[in-house]
Amino acid sequence: MAKIIDGKVVSQFVKDGVKKEVEALGKKGVSVGLAVIIVGSDPASRTYVNNKKKACAEAGIISEEYALPEETTMQELLSLIKELNQKKSVNGILCQLPLPKHLDEKLVIENIDPKKDVDAFHAVNTGHIMIGDYSFLPCTPAGIMEMLDYYNIETQGKNAVVIGRSNIVGKPMAMLLLQKNATVTVCHSKTENLGEITRRADILVAAVGKEKFVTGDMIKDGAVVIDVGINRNGEGKLCGDVDFEQAEKKASYITPVPGGVGPMTIATLLKNTVTAAKLQNAIE
Ligand code: NAD
Repeated sequence: MAKIIDGKVVSQFVKDGVKKEVEALGKKGVSVGLAVIIVGSDPASRTYVNNKKKACAEAGIISEEYALPEETTMQELLSLIKELNQKKSVNGILCQLPLPKHLDEKLVIENIDPKKDVDAFHAVNTGHIMIGDYSFLPCTPAGIMEMLDYYNIETQGKNAVVIGRSNIVGKPMAMLLLQKNATVTVCHSKTENLGEITRRADILVAAVGKEKFVTGDMIKDGAVVIDVGINRNGEGKLCGDVDFEQAEKKASYITPVPGGVGPMTIATLLKNTVTAAKLQNAIE
């Protein structure tokens, strides 16, 4: 039976560290602020934003919410971003995605000052991640690396397989594993013989967005299985991409959903916001 990688425990460890840093900055007269933009009334986005605001409050980070109506124009959104880019009390800017269809997400990301881009989505920051020289961590992948580190899971020389090649999860995940000396394979919707590849993985990361996509027969005995997926099953319950019941019989370690990767993403966001405040105040 696999050991559970407990995202709540690891994220609390990270958040405790962030809180101490925020307190130390406070003693130097530096406050830490995050602006959170939400457009429209998507219930999932609302939940994410609420969770992020709550986590900020617990860590002593001042969060400001900008809730804009569904019909907000691109011009209005960009003008808010421009204002926040200049606002001194705002160290980080987060625009909750997805945006309503009429808004251009790419343009929104491009307009956030890279120094305040705490999601690390801006091309400047993804470029830094690519060359391994960066300040802002890609939130979900960095959270996963933190979990591996917490459980002393070796990456060096291991075969790591990432299923998914999105800009926010799959690609940066591959980069971070590569930096930690894993041999990385990235699989995607056009990959052939997926099972053959995943069965070679010592570390298997699933970021697909499909319930029970990774079945037991796709997993090597003793593999570390990281489930990034957030899906709703037929009963409306939250579940990941991995068939947990099957996988836990084969894996050595596994992340549950909920309570695995999810909490780590927010913890990294807080870390990035502190980093932003330090950079903007020229504090080492
Ligand atoms: P995405 O839709 O942008 O990417 C999905 C990826 O899966 C694509 O690259 C695609 O090529 C791949 N894929 C689709 N079908 C496939 C197939 N049959 N075989 C192999 N690969 C296939 O999604 P994303 O933004 O990367 O998110 C993936 C999942 O992770 C979603 O469920 C999302 O909700 C979740 N997510 C969770 C967190 C978290 O904090 N836990 C953060 C971000 C995303």
